[in-house]
Amino acid sequence: MSAIRLLSSLAVVATLASTIAAADGDTRIARWKDDKAAAIVLMFDDSIPSHVKNVMPELKKRGLTGTFYINPGAGHFAATRSTWEKDATADGYELGNHTMTHKGAKSLADAEREIGGCHEWIRTVTPAMPWPRLVSWAQPGGCPWTVDKADMDALLAKNHLVKRPDFGGRGATIAFKSGPEYVAHLDKAIKAGSMECIIYHGVGGDWLAATMPQFVELLDGMEARKDKLWVTGHIPAHQYAIERDAATVQVSAKTTSKIALTLSCTADPALYDQPLTLVTSVPASWTACIVTQGKTSSEVAAKAGALIFDALPGSEPIVITKK
Ligand SMILES: [Zn+2]
Repeated sequence: MSAIRLLSSLAVVATLASTIAAADGDTRIARWKDDKAAAIVLMFDDSIPSHVKNVMPELKKRGLTGTFYINPGAGHFAATRSTWEKDATADGYELGNHTMTHKGAKSLADAEREIGGCHEWIRTVTPAMPWPRLVSWAQPGGCPWTVDKADMDALLAKNHLVKRPDFGGRGATIAFKSGPEYVAHLDKAIKAGSMECIIYHGVGGDWLAATMPQFVELLDGMEARKDKLWVTGHIPAHQYAIERDAATVQVSAKTTSKIALTLSCTADPALYDQPLTLVTSVPASWTACIVTQGKTSSEVAAKAGALIFDALPGSEPIVITKK
């Protein structure tokens, strides 16, 4: 037997004798939650009746979510106020700041009043959620907004408001005019591995309205692509992207019975508290594992030697054991 063949035979024996190989424990941070290819955010502007009547039932039926940009001081808001104040948050929809009245701002004082009023409304209707926290911001269109950019940036930062992506190229009935055009936007996000949004006003009613068949075609397209799409709100997607790019994962310990990881992140944990999805190689015999981080413990089944699970960056170490 040649020396090389002898060495390779010994290596095989060594691998079989051990239950943990060099690659076990190798971990990557998934690009998007649950290792999905892309993130999609449905956005709905102006807190109008067709959102309550047409959008929410269709989302709820499918277990989907979206971000609703609210004008709690607008005249039309009164008719559906109780739905927004109770049901919208109970069903897990994200509420974004779209100013109190949608009448614009001609001075910093106007902007402070418009933004501050909506901000306070959001805080009040979500008492169980941490505060301060990041809130999505959509500047209202079609009204005057003449506030100095530096003043606006400071006001947004003070209120932890995160600008959503621009309307251009994302507006329902403007960027997309048929069902297949909406659905193609999903495939564009999947191909790019990006976060994409579709911004609606009315759906099956109200203004700038997309039709119900178009909306349903999009939702059906999302369901057909559910293995590749993370359907979420703007802030969770924003947090995920920031944390993912600021995080590092390392194997801190590895034995035949345990893999320990540390997930560190430079983003501020007070505002960036979205769990990240990790994908860890485990030994072939570890078909079911227990993943523990701090006081949280869950059972996770391995798929093709990989474990996919969520962990909170900058928190306690993560320990994986065979079940
Ligand atoms: Zn608007």
